[in-house]
Amino acid sequence: MRVGIAALFVLIITGWLWHDARAQSGGPVVSGAHRFEKVVDGIYYATASGTMTVGSNSPVIVNDDEAMVVDSEITPAAARALVADLKAVTNKPVGYIVDSHYHYDHAFGNQVFAPAIPVIGHDNTRRRLLGEFGNVMEQYTYLNSVQPVPARLESLKQRIAEEKDPQQKASLERQAANSRAYLEQVKETRVTPPNVTIDKKMTLFRGGREIQILYLGRGHTDTDVVVLLPKERIVCTGDLMESQISYMGDSFPEEWIATLDRLKALNFDTVMPGHGVVFKGTAKIDAFQKYLRDVINQVNASRKQGLSAEEAAKRVDVTAYSGEFPQIRGVGIDAAAARRIYQLAERPE
Ligand SMILES: [Zn+2]
Repeated sequence: MRVGIAALFVLIITGWLWHDARAQSGGPVVSGAHRFEKVVDGIYYATASGTMTVGSNSPVIVNDDEAMVVDSEITPAAARALVADLKAVTNKPVGYIVDSHYHYDHAFGNQVFAPAIPVIGHDNTRRRLLGEFGNVMEQYTYLNSVQPVPARLESLKQRIAEEKDPQQKASLERQAANSRAYLEQVKETRVTPPNVTIDKKMTLFRGGREIQILYLGRGHTDTDVVVLLPKERIVCTGDLMESQISYMGDSFPEEWIATLDRLKALNFDTVMPGHGVVFKGTAKIDAFQKYLRDVINQVNASRKQGLSAEEAAKRVDVTAYSGEFPQIRGVGIDAAAARRIYQLAERPE
C-alpha cells in the first residue's frame, strides 16, 4: 500500500514536471494545417500538421511590425492556410516572403503575396520562375510531384481496404485525402516570380532585428539563398542544407560542397532547414558534404563503365551515412541525382 501511494506520488510529480517543462518551452502550437515550433522568442518553425499538403517547412521571423516568412509553400491554398494558421502565434501581418529557391514546394504559394507584399529571391529564382530556362511546370521536378499521384492513390486505396488497425487506417485515409486535394489545389497555381531580387547579399533592419539574405553559390540549385540572423545565431537554409538528404535533380553537386564550406563559415548555432527538423552545429553539414563527394565519385565510376544513370543510381552505396541520415535504408539513391551528374558531365552548365 505504501509503495502504491509512493508510486502514485512519483507519477503525479513527474506528470506535473513534464507539464511544466512543456509549458515553459512553449511546446509546438498546432493551428490548422501547420504546427509552429518556437525556436527562440519571435522565431517559429512552421511544419505540416498533417491535414494538408504544404510542401516545405517555413521559418517565421516575427519583427516589430510584421512577420517575414521563408518560403510560401507548395500551392496558393497552402500559402493561404499558412497566413490563417499564423494567427495562433502572432497578430502581425506577413510583411515579407523570402524564396529560399525556385522549387515548387517552396515558391508556388507566391501568388498569394505578390505584388502587394515583397517576395524576395535570387535573380536566378526570378529568371527560372519567369520561364527563361523553360516552363517550371513542365519540368521533371514539378511533374514528379503530380504525375505519380493517381497511381499512389490506387495503391493507398488497396492498403486502406486491407488495413485492420483503425489508427493506421485513419492515417492512410488522411494521406489519400491530402493527395486528392493536392491534385485539385495545383490547378490554381500561376507561377509567380520574386518581385525583389538579390545577386549576392541584402540586409534588412526591422525593429531590433538584423536579417541578412545571402547567396553563397550554386548548390541544391543555382537559386539558393540563406537567411542569416546574426544576433540570434540562426540560419535558414532552404534545401541547400536539410536535416535529411536533399533532392539533387537540379543541383550542382561539385559546387554544392564548396558552397556548404561558405555556409559553415557563417556565424550560427541553429539551422532551420527547408525540410526535416531544426538542428544545431555543423556536424551534419560535414556529413552531407562527404555524402555528396561519395555520390559523385560512385556515380562517375559507373558512368565511366558505360552504365546507364538509372543503373548507376541503383548501385550507389551510401549506407555509411545512415547514422546522420536515417532515411537511407539500403543501397541505391534517387535516379534523378545520378541523371543530373551524368547530364553535367556531358553538358556542363
Ligand atoms: Zn528544393
